[in-house]
Amino acid sequence: MREYETVIGLEVHCELATKTKIFCGCTTEFGGEPNTHVCPVCAGMPGTLPVLNKQVVAYALSAGVALNCDITQHCKFDRKNYFYPDLPKAYQISQLYLPICRNGHVDIEVDGVKKSIGIHEIHMEEDAGKLIHDEWEDCTIVDYNRCGVPLIEIVSEPDMRSADEVIAYLEKLRMILQYLGVSDCKMQEGSLRADVNVSVRKKGETKLGTRTEMKNMNSFRSIVRAIEYEANRQIELIEEGGVVEQSTLRWDDVSGRTFSMRDKEDAQDYRYFPDPDLVAIRLSEEYIEGIKNSLPELPESRKARYMDEFGLSEKDSRLLTSSKYLSDLFEGAEEICKNPKA
Ligand code: ADP
Ligand code: MG
Ligand code: ZN
Repeated sequence: MREYETVIGLEVHCELATKTKIFCGCTTEFGGEPNTHVCPVCAGMPGTLPVLNKQVVAYALSAGVALNCDITQHCKFDRKNYFYPDLPKAYQISQLYLPICRNGHVDIEVDGVKKSIGIHEIHMEEDAGKLIHDEWEDCTIVDYNRCGVPLIEIVSEPDMRSADEVIAYLEKLRMILQYLGVSDCKMQEGSLRADVNVSVRKKGETKLGTRTEMKNMNSFRSIVRAIEYEANRQIELIEEGGVVEQSTLRWDDVSGRTFSMRDKEDAQDYRYFPDPDLVAIRLSEEYIEGIKNSLPELPESRKARYMDEFGLSEKDSRLLTSSKYLSDLFEGAEEICKNPKA
Protein backbone atom coordinates (compact mmCIF):
# COMPACT_ATOMS: atom_id res chain seq x y z
CA MET A 1 0.00 0.00 0.00
CA ARG A 2 1.39 3.41 -0.99
CA GLU A 3 1.52 5.88 1.83
CA TYR A 4 -0.92 8.78 2.02
CA GLU A 5 -0.24 12.43 2.62
CA THR A 6 -2.66 14.77 4.44
CA VAL A 7 -3.21 18.25 2.98
CA ILE A 8 -4.69 21.02 5.11
CA GLY A 9 -5.73 24.63 4.46
CA LEU A 10 -7.26 26.97 7.04
CA GLU A 11 -9.71 29.84 6.98
CA VAL A 12 -9.07 31.70 10.25
CA HIS A 13 -11.62 34.19 11.55
CA CYS A 14 -10.25 36.75 13.94
CA GLU A 15 -12.33 39.34 15.81
CA LEU A 16 -10.61 42.72 15.80
CA ALA A 17 -9.86 44.70 18.96
CA THR A 18 -11.79 47.84 17.95
CA LYS A 19 -13.93 49.49 20.65
CA THR A 20 -16.94 49.74 18.34
CA LYS A 21 -18.46 47.59 15.59
CA ILE A 22 -17.49 47.73 11.92
CA PHE A 23 -20.44 49.76 10.58
CA CYS A 24 -22.02 51.41 13.67
CA GLY A 25 -21.09 52.83 17.08
CA CYS A 26 -22.19 49.84 19.21
CA THR A 27 -19.65 48.34 21.61
CA THR A 28 -17.79 45.15 20.65
CA GLU A 29 -17.41 44.08 24.29
CA PHE A 30 -17.79 40.33 24.81
CA GLY A 31 -20.85 39.08 26.71
CA GLY A 32 -23.34 41.58 28.14
CA GLU A 33 -27.09 41.07 28.47
CA PRO A 34 -28.38 39.54 25.21
CA ASN A 35 -29.48 42.10 22.62
CA THR A 36 -28.23 45.16 24.51
CA HIS A 37 -25.22 45.92 22.25
CA VAL A 38 -27.42 46.59 19.24
CA CYS A 39 -28.78 49.53 17.25
CA PRO A 40 -30.91 49.83 14.10
CA VAL A 41 -27.81 49.49 11.86
CA CYS A 42 -26.43 46.21 13.26
CA ALA A 43 -29.95 44.87 13.82
CA GLY A 44 -30.47 45.22 10.07
CA MET A 45 -33.41 47.63 10.14
CA PRO A 46 -34.58 48.80 6.71
CA GLY A 47 -33.44 52.29 5.75
CA THR A 48 -30.28 52.29 7.86
CA LEU A 49 -26.85 52.81 6.32
CA PRO A 50 -23.45 51.41 7.30
CA VAL A 51 -20.48 53.71 7.98
CA LEU A 52 -17.07 52.02 7.88
CA ASN A 53 -14.96 52.09 11.07
CA LYS A 54 -11.54 53.35 9.93
CA GLN A 55 -9.71 51.37 12.64
CA VAL A 56 -10.86 48.11 11.00
CA VAL A 57 -8.95 49.03 7.85
CA ALA A 58 -5.87 49.99 9.90
CA TYR A 59 -5.92 46.65 11.75
CA ALA A 60 -6.49 44.58 8.59
CA LEU A 61 -3.64 46.44 6.93
CA SER A 62 -1.26 45.89 9.88
CA ALA A 63 -2.05 42.18 9.82
CA GLY A 64 -1.41 42.09 6.07
CA VAL A 65 1.93 43.86 6.37
CA ALA A 66 3.05 41.62 9.25
CA LEU A 67 2.01 38.54 7.24
CA ASN A 68 4.05 39.69 4.22
CA CYS A 69 1.06 40.35 1.94
CA ASP A 70 0.57 42.49 -1.14
CA ILE A 71 -1.85 45.32 -0.34
CA THR A 72 -4.83 45.98 -2.61
CA GLN A 73 -4.83 49.76 -2.82
CA HIS A 74 -8.33 49.85 -4.34
CA CYS A 75 -10.57 47.53 -2.39
CA LYS A 76 -14.30 47.34 -1.72
CA PHE A 77 -17.02 45.44 0.11
CA ASP A 78 -19.42 42.88 -1.33
CA ARG A 79 -22.68 41.41 -0.08
CA LYS A 80 -22.83 37.71 0.65
CA ASN A 81 -26.50 36.79 0.65
CA TYR A 82 -27.95 34.01 2.75
CA PHE A 83 -30.92 33.50 5.04
CA TYR A 84 -30.19 32.49 8.58
CA PRO A 85 -31.72 33.74 11.85
CA ASP A 86 -28.37 34.99 13.22
CA LEU A 87 -28.04 37.38 10.25
CA PRO A 88 -30.79 40.04 10.47
CA LYS A 89 -30.00 41.80 7.16
CA ALA A 90 -30.01 38.44 5.33
CA TYR A 91 -26.61 39.36 3.90
CA GLN A 92 -23.15 39.64 5.37
CA ILE A 93 -20.93 42.52 4.28
CA SER A 94 -17.64 40.90 3.26
CA GLN A 95 -14.98 41.16 0.53
CA LEU A 96 -14.98 38.69 -2.36
CA TYR A 97 -13.60 40.35 -5.48
CA LEU A 98 -10.96 42.70 -4.06
CA PRO A 99 -9.78 41.58 -0.60
CA ILE A 100 -7.54 44.09 1.18
CA CYS A 101 -4.48 41.77 1.28
CA ARG A 102 -3.20 38.90 -0.85
CA ASN A 103 -0.19 36.63 -1.41
CA GLY A 104 1.43 36.58 2.00
CA HIS A 105 3.21 33.95 4.02
CA VAL A 106 3.95 32.87 7.59
CA ASP A 107 7.11 30.98 8.56
CA ILE A 108 6.74 28.11 10.98
CA GLU A 109 9.06 25.56 12.53
CA VAL A 110 8.15 21.99 13.53
CA ASP A 111 10.79 19.71 15.12
CA GLY A 112 13.58 21.95 13.86
CA VAL A 113 12.26 21.95 10.28
CA LYS A 114 11.43 25.42 8.90
CA LYS A 115 8.60 25.88 6.43
CA SER A 116 6.71 28.75 4.85
CA ILE A 117 2.87 28.62 4.77
CA GLY A 118 1.23 30.70 2.04
CA ILE A 119 -1.53 33.20 2.82
CA HIS A 120 -3.96 33.32 -0.09
CA GLU A 121 -5.77 36.45 1.13
CA ILE A 122 -7.04 38.46 4.09
CA HIS A 123 -10.43 40.09 3.86
CA MET A 124 -12.57 42.26 6.17
CA GLU A 125 -16.11 41.31 7.11
CA GLU A 126 -18.75 41.55 9.84
CA ASP A 127 -19.55 38.82 12.35
CA ALA A 128 -23.06 37.34 12.73
CA GLY A 129 -25.13 36.95 15.91
CA LYS A 130 -25.31 33.87 18.07
CA LEU A 131 -28.05 31.24 18.24
CA ILE A 132 -28.55 29.45 21.52
CA HIS A 133 -30.43 26.17 21.39
CA ASP A 134 -32.46 25.81 24.57
CA GLU A 135 -33.17 22.10 24.90
CA TRP A 136 -35.15 22.52 28.10
CA GLU A 137 -37.66 24.95 26.58
CA ASP A 138 -37.28 23.25 23.18
CA CYS A 139 -36.62 26.49 21.34
CA THR A 140 -33.82 28.56 19.84
CA ILE A 141 -33.11 32.06 21.08
CA VAL A 142 -30.94 34.63 19.39
CA ASP A 143 -28.43 37.16 20.71
CA TYR A 144 -27.48 39.92 18.23
CA ASN A 145 -24.71 41.45 20.38
CA ARG A 146 -22.02 39.91 18.13
CA CYS A 147 -23.68 41.16 14.89
CA GLY A 148 -21.36 43.60 13.18
CA VAL A 149 -18.28 42.86 15.28
CA PRO A 150 -15.37 43.33 12.84
CA LEU A 151 -13.50 40.27 11.59
CA ILE A 152 -10.60 39.58 9.36
CA GLU A 153 -10.58 36.22 7.62
CA ILE A 154 -7.09 34.90 6.91
CA VAL A 155 -7.21 32.24 4.18
CA SER A 156 -4.14 30.02 3.89
CA GLU A 157 -2.96 28.07 0.86
CA PRO A 158 -3.34 24.28 1.26
CA ASP A 159 0.28 24.12 2.43
CA MET A 160 0.06 22.23 5.72
CA ARG A 161 0.76 18.50 5.89
CA SER A 162 0.13 17.54 9.52
CA ALA A 163 -1.79 18.55 12.63
CA ASP A 164 1.55 19.68 14.15
CA GLU A 165 2.08 22.12 11.28
CA VAL A 166 -1.46 23.42 11.71
CA ILE A 167 -0.89 24.10 15.41
CA ALA A 168 2.48 25.76 14.71
CA TYR A 169 0.76 27.96 12.10
CA LEU A 170 -2.09 28.91 14.43
CA GLU A 171 0.27 29.66 17.32
CA LYS A 172 2.41 31.84 15.07
CA LEU A 173 -0.65 33.71 13.75
CA ARG A 174 -1.98 34.22 17.26
CA MET A 175 1.37 35.50 18.48
CA ILE A 176 1.70 38.00 15.61
CA LEU A 177 -1.88 39.27 15.94
CA GLN A 178 -1.48 39.72 19.70
CA TYR A 179 1.84 41.58 19.30
CA LEU A 180 0.18 43.88 16.76
CA GLY A 181 -2.70 44.49 19.16
CA VAL A 182 -5.07 43.62 16.30
CA SER A 183 -7.01 41.03 18.35
CA ASP A 184 -6.99 39.45 21.81
CA CYS A 185 -7.27 36.07 20.00
CA LYS A 186 -9.18 34.48 22.89
CA MET A 187 -10.19 31.12 21.47
CA GLN A 188 -12.54 30.37 24.38
CA GLU A 189 -14.51 33.53 23.54
CA GLY A 190 -14.47 32.76 19.83
CA SER A 191 -12.25 35.72 18.86
CA LEU A 192 -10.04 33.25 16.99
CA ARG A 193 -11.71 30.35 15.22
CA ALA A 194 -10.86 28.27 12.17
CA ASP A 195 -12.55 26.39 9.36
CA VAL A 196 -10.30 23.40 8.73
CA ASN A 197 -10.12 21.97 5.18
CA VAL A 198 -8.67 18.47 4.89
CA SER A 199 -7.91 16.18 1.96
CA VAL A 200 -5.64 13.20 1.41
CA ARG A 201 -3.68 11.93 -1.58
CA LYS A 202 -1.14 9.22 -2.30
CA LYS A 203 2.43 10.34 -1.63
CA GLY A 204 4.02 11.64 -4.83
CA GLU A 205 0.67 12.62 -6.34
CA THR A 206 0.66 16.26 -7.54
CA LYS A 207 -3.10 16.79 -7.87
CA LEU A 208 -5.00 17.69 -4.68
CA GLY A 209 -7.59 15.28 -3.34
CA THR A 210 -11.21 16.28 -2.70
CA ARG A 211 -11.49 18.22 0.55
CA THR A 212 -13.99 18.32 3.36
CA GLU A 213 -14.38 21.38 5.57
CA MET A 214 -14.88 21.38 9.34
CA LYS A 215 -16.46 24.66 10.41
CA ASN A 216 -15.85 26.94 13.36
CA MET A 217 -13.26 25.12 15.44
CA ASN A 218 -11.97 26.99 18.48
CA SER A 219 -9.68 24.69 20.40
CA PHE A 220 -6.23 23.39 19.43
CA ARG A 221 -7.01 19.99 20.95
CA SER A 222 -10.20 19.54 18.92
CA ILE A 223 -8.43 20.69 15.76
CA VAL A 224 -5.71 18.04 16.20
CA ARG A 225 -8.25 15.28 16.92
CA ALA A 226 -10.51 16.37 14.05
CA ILE A 227 -7.67 16.39 11.49
CA GLU A 228 -6.49 12.94 12.55
CA TYR A 229 -10.00 11.49 12.51
CA GLU A 230 -10.94 13.05 9.18
CA ALA A 231 -7.70 12.07 7.39
CA ASN A 232 -8.12 8.45 8.56
CA ARG A 233 -11.77 8.40 7.55
CA GLN A 234 -10.88 9.60 4.03
CA ILE A 235 -8.01 7.09 3.67
CA GLU A 236 -10.21 4.18 4.76
CA LEU A 237 -12.95 5.28 2.39
CA ILE A 238 -10.51 5.41 -0.57
CA GLU A 239 -8.94 2.07 0.37
CA GLU A 240 -12.41 0.50 0.33
CA GLY A 241 -12.87 1.78 -3.22
CA GLY A 242 -15.04 4.74 -2.26
CA VAL A 243 -14.65 8.42 -3.16
CA VAL A 244 -14.49 11.44 -0.86
CA GLU A 245 -17.40 13.83 -1.45
CA GLN A 246 -16.77 17.55 -1.06
CA SER A 247 -18.82 18.51 1.98
CA THR A 248 -19.12 20.65 5.08
CA LEU A 249 -18.75 18.74 8.31
CA ARG A 250 -19.33 19.33 11.99
CA TRP A 251 -16.77 17.93 14.40
CA ASP A 252 -18.34 16.46 17.55
CA ASP A 253 -15.88 16.56 20.44
CA VAL A 254 -17.87 14.14 22.61
CA SER A 255 -18.17 11.26 20.14
CA GLY A 256 -14.83 12.14 18.51
CA ARG A 257 -16.15 12.02 14.95
CA THR A 258 -17.40 14.23 12.11
CA PHE A 259 -20.97 14.55 10.85
CA SER A 260 -22.08 15.87 7.48
CA MET A 261 -23.85 19.26 7.56
CA ARG A 262 -24.28 19.67 3.84
CA ASP A 263 -22.78 18.26 0.66
CA LYS A 264 -21.81 19.86 -2.64
CA GLU A 265 -25.31 19.27 -4.01
CA ASP A 266 -26.84 21.72 -1.57
CA ALA A 267 -23.84 24.07 -1.60
CA GLN A 268 -25.15 27.60 -1.23
CA ASP A 269 -25.13 30.20 -3.95
CA TYR A 270 -24.38 33.44 -2.13
CA ARG A 271 -25.21 35.73 -5.07
CA TYR A 272 -22.36 38.07 -4.21
CA PHE A 273 -22.49 41.62 -5.54
CA PRO A 274 -20.70 44.88 -4.64
CA ASP A 275 -22.34 46.57 -1.65
CA PRO A 276 -24.01 49.72 -3.02
CA ASP A 277 -24.19 51.36 0.43
CA LEU A 278 -20.43 51.63 0.87
CA VAL A 279 -17.95 53.55 -1.23
CA ALA A 280 -14.81 51.83 -2.49
CA ILE A 281 -11.68 52.29 -0.40
CA ARG A 282 -8.52 53.84 -1.79
CA LEU A 283 -5.44 53.36 0.34
CA SER A 284 -2.81 55.98 -0.45
CA GLU A 285 0.89 55.15 -0.48
CA GLU A 286 1.37 57.52 2.47
CA TYR A 287 -1.31 55.79 4.50
CA ILE A 288 0.19 52.35 3.86
CA GLU A 289 3.69 53.66 4.68
CA GLY A 290 2.32 55.21 7.87
CA ILE A 291 0.91 51.86 8.99
CA LYS A 292 4.16 50.06 8.07
CA ASN A 293 6.20 52.53 10.09
CA SER A 294 3.95 52.34 13.12
CA LEU A 295 4.00 48.54 13.50
CA PRO A 296 5.37 47.45 16.88
CA GLU A 297 8.46 45.24 17.02
CA LEU A 298 7.39 41.67 16.19
CA PRO A 299 8.48 38.49 18.01
CA GLU A 300 11.07 37.38 15.40
CA SER A 301 12.92 40.67 15.70
CA ARG A 302 12.66 40.77 19.49
CA LYS A 303 14.06 37.25 19.62
CA ALA A 304 17.05 38.23 17.45
CA ARG A 305 17.61 41.32 19.60
CA TYR A 306 17.60 39.28 22.84
CA MET A 307 20.29 37.02 21.39
CA ASP A 308 22.35 39.92 20.02
CA GLU A 309 21.94 42.57 22.63
CA PHE A 310 21.50 40.50 25.78
CA GLY A 311 23.53 37.44 24.76
CA LEU A 312 20.66 35.08 25.62
CA SER A 313 20.45 31.61 24.09
CA GLU A 314 18.09 30.97 21.20
CA LYS A 315 15.97 28.75 23.47
CA ASP A 316 15.62 31.42 26.19
CA SER A 317 14.90 34.12 23.63
CA ARG A 318 12.23 32.03 21.97
CA LEU A 319 10.56 31.28 25.31
CA LEU A 320 10.63 34.93 26.42
CA THR A 321 9.13 36.20 23.17
CA SER A 322 6.50 33.47 22.89
CA SER A 323 3.98 35.82 24.46
CA LYS A 324 3.87 39.61 24.33
CA TYR A 325 2.92 39.73 28.00
CA LEU A 326 5.99 37.73 29.07
CA SER A 327 8.26 39.63 26.72
CA ASP A 328 7.09 43.05 28.00
CA LEU A 329 7.49 41.85 31.59
CA PHE A 330 11.04 40.69 30.86
CA GLU A 331 11.99 43.99 29.24
CA GLY A 332 10.52 45.92 32.16
CA ALA A 333 12.57 43.87 34.62
CA GLU A 334 15.72 44.19 32.51
CA GLU A 335 15.32 48.00 32.54
CA ILE A 336 15.45 47.94 36.31
CA CYS A 337 18.06 45.32 37.14
CA LYS A 338 20.22 45.39 33.98
CA ASN A 339 20.95 41.69 34.27
CA PRO A 340 19.02 39.98 31.48
CA LYS A 341 20.28 36.45 32.06
CA ALA A 342 19.24 36.49 35.71
P1 ADP B 1 -14.14 28.18 -0.34
O1 ADP B 1 -13.94 29.67 -0.31
O2 ADP B 1 -15.17 27.69 -1.25
O3 ADP B 1 -14.27 27.58 1.04
P2 ADP B 1 -11.35 27.92 -1.34
O4 ADP B 1 -10.95 27.19 -2.56
O5 ADP B 1 -11.16 29.38 -1.32
O6 ADP B 1 -12.82 27.51 -0.99
O7 ADP B 1 -10.50 27.26 -0.16
C1 ADP B 1 -10.78 27.47 1.14
C2 ADP B 1 -9.67 26.84 1.97
O8 ADP B 1 -9.55 25.46 1.65
C3 ADP B 1 -8.29 27.43 1.75
O9 ADP B 1 -7.69 27.63 3.01
C4 ADP B 1 -7.55 26.38 0.95
O10 ADP B 1 -6.18 26.36 1.30
C5 ADP B 1 -8.20 25.11 1.41
N1 ADP B 1 -8.20 24.05 0.38
C6 ADP B 1 -8.57 24.17 -0.91
N2 ADP B 1 -8.46 22.99 -1.56
C7 ADP B 1 -7.99 22.09 -0.64
C8 ADP B 1 -7.67 20.69 -0.68
N3 ADP B 1 -7.82 19.96 -1.81
N4 ADP B 1 -7.21 20.11 0.46
C9 ADP B 1 -7.09 20.82 1.59
N5 ADP B 1 -7.37 22.13 1.69
C10 ADP B 1 -7.82 22.76 0.59
MG1 MG C 1 -14.66 27.80 3.08
ZN1 ZN D 1 -25.07 48.81 16.19
